[in-house]
Amino acid sequence: MTRRKLAAGNWKMNGTSADLVELEALAKAHPTPGCDILICPPATLISRAAAAASAQIAIGGQDCHQKDSGAHTGDVSAPMLLDAGAQYVILGHSERREDHRESDTDVRNKVVAALSAGLKAIVCVGESLAEREANNTLDIIGGQLAGSIPDVVTGDSLVVAYEPIWAIGTGKVPTLDQIGEVHDFIRIRLETRFGAGVGRSTRILYGGSVKPANASEIFAVSNVDGALVGGASLSATDFSPIITALE
Ligand code: PEP
Repeated sequence: MTRRKLAAGNWKMNGTSADLVELEALAKAHPTPGCDILICPPATLISRAAAAASAQIAIGGQDCHQKDSGAHTGDVSAPMLLDAGAQYVILGHSERREDHRESDTDVRNKVVAALSAGLKAIVCVGESLAEREANNTLDIIGGQLAGSIPDVVTGDSLVVAYEPIWAIGTGKVPTLDQIGEVHDFIRIRLETRFGAGVGRSTRILYGGSVKPANASEIFAVSNVDGALVGGASLSATDFSPIITALE
């Protein structure tokens, strides 16, 4: 089973219209990319990013509400993201789980909303440092997969991102063996639950302090189908070599 690799950038709460030049620089550097490229800017920039991005760069949201519309001040729904030009949405990022107390059930409901709207969902899972040190990593990941992913997924519409919380924005990265252990575990869980078709075609990204200097060795690990990149996705200078390492 060949899975097309995915280099996904999460700009988090960073970026104004002046930063859209980074998209142009990325498009110029990768006119015929050998992998999928995705940028998830803040919601305020999605429309303009989608207009500025060339065909080879997809745009995504960083969250969506579980309802399509209604009295939810400040929230953005999946159909709204689609309408703005998004093709993907990141759901269950550890910063959302922490800052907004999102539970696995919340994430699951958001995934249902995203898929119903026609978006692809990137579902984030990952353990804290305390959970890893207590040897609970696989239990935590297994629970998050079971709780956050609904039954109605396809290999095309679902992406899973393994992001150890302690590696996000810290410069710390798990060993390659640790990354491989979790990615193999996620693959087996997906195959067991959804069957070989969905289980083998779902892409599994690694996220957490991916930089140009460590990207190649991480991408060589089994069942790593790309990366979800925070800080290093903000500039084309940093993100472009990560994309090249994946191509
Ligand atoms: C992220 O926010 O998903 C992330 C992985 O961040 P960073 O690459 O900065 O660690």
